[in-house]
Amino acid sequence: MRIIDTLESNVRSYPFSFPAIFSRARGSIMLTEDGRKVIDFLSGAGALNYGHNNHQIKAAIAEYLASDAVIHGLDMATPAKLEFLETFSSVILRERDLQYRFQFTGPTGANAIEAALKLSRKITGRQNIISFTHGYHGMSLGAMAASGNRFYRRASGAALAGATFMPYDGYLGPAVDTADYLQKLLSDESSGIDTPAAILVETVQGEGGINVASKEWLQSVQAIAKNVGALFIVDDVQMGCGRTGEFFSFEFAGLSPDIIVMSKSLSGYGLPLSMLLIKEECDAWMPGEHTGTFRGNNLALVSATAAINIYWRSRTFAQDVQRMGELMRSRLEAIASEHGSGFAVRGRGMALGFDCQTAEVAETTARKAFEKGLIVERCGPIDQVVKFLPALTIDLETLNRGLDIFELSLTETLMEPRSDVPRQRAFLRSRC
Ligand SMILES: *Cc1c(COP(=O)(O)O)cnc(C)c1O
Repeated sequence: MRIIDTLESNVRSYPFSFPAIFSRARGSIMLTEDGRKVIDFLSGAGALNYGHNNHQIKAAIAEYLASDAVIHGLDMATPAKLEFLETFSSVILRERDLQYRFQFTGPTGANAIEAALKLSRKITGRQNIISFTHGYHGMSLGAMAASGNRFYRRASGAALAGATFMPYDGYLGPAVDTADYLQKLLSDESSGIDTPAAILVETVQGEGGINVASKEWLQSVQAIAKNVGALFIVDDVQMGCGRTGEFFSFEFAGLSPDIIVMSKSLSGYGLPLSMLLIKEECDAWMPGEHTGTFRGNNLALVSATAAINIYWRSRTFAQDVQRMGELMRSRLEAIASEHGSGFAVRGRGMALGFDCQTAEVAETTARKAFEKGLIVERCGPIDQVVKFLPALTIDLETLNRGLDIFELSLTETLMEPRSDVPRQRAFLRSRC
């Protein structure tokens, strides 16, 4: 670890939570250099829905590499791109009665969010973006302006302008429908809220604490966007590609977003790939008006096509994810009720959060879990939620083993007197 400590910037984050050198990985298991096997419930923050080094997907990449086919071609046409467009259109879109155009953006989720916001502003001639409390959309200035987290906002060092925050579903408690509040403000000419270019929403807030929006709330927000002539954008960067038990996280609500933002698990292999799905009538770009060197990297398109062919041609994969999600949820709920009334379990599909209420309990539990062989990350406004994002392809035995480790770690944490060693990140946070 010494070379990391001396040479890599203080800005690194996961090496503090998971202090090991990870040398190999397959499926849901990562191997450390000193020979430990660790179960991965973080999955590249949702970029590895099909597991590490998925062998079937790897075969497609290896074949493509061996053939000297084009890897980098800016956004030129290649057989790999055509095959991806065809496969995604027929297997994902047509099956769901959806029709979209594809825009390949730079490789990160933030790149795609920026493109979506820019397009909405161009179409409407407006500037304001409505986003939601505890939302997370990435680190670039435009995406950051629409993200709630104060630690990140402060670190940006710039005026973050252009977004207005509205309360997410449930933010004001179960008795208040925050969509009514949004509706009221946007229909009042003198509310002080500029009519938005877009409403940007996650159906489940990943970084924000696994907060789940209801079907009715999402439908209302979509209708409000339509009424005020704003684009309705779903950020499916983390919750898309099957995470919630359906390919798009909004299928359960029957939404029809003007723009869908995809990244993280899109390539299926952890390779960087991001894109927008744009309704045809919203495709207002002039050729070359938004560019980037790494758009639609062909290797990532090949793995993305393979992932769709392998997992999404039949309905059984989505059903398996829903079933596994139910098992996880009932196990976590049992753990929550066994250990007192304060804990809460939230989520949809295989995106679940265990709200420990305090940062200390969540932090100590996650640290103990890693010592015992499980990677789990924390999220939420004060990092009080332990977040479960196992690979969607995980086997039941490994899933249960991971949950056993979590339960044991929580039990030990609750038995300890409350005198916690502050972790590096918490220390850095308080220093700012
Ligand atoms: C991770 C994430 C992003 C940003 O993606 P990057 O690739 O890190 O830029 C945007 N939105 C959501 C919901 C995310 O989870």
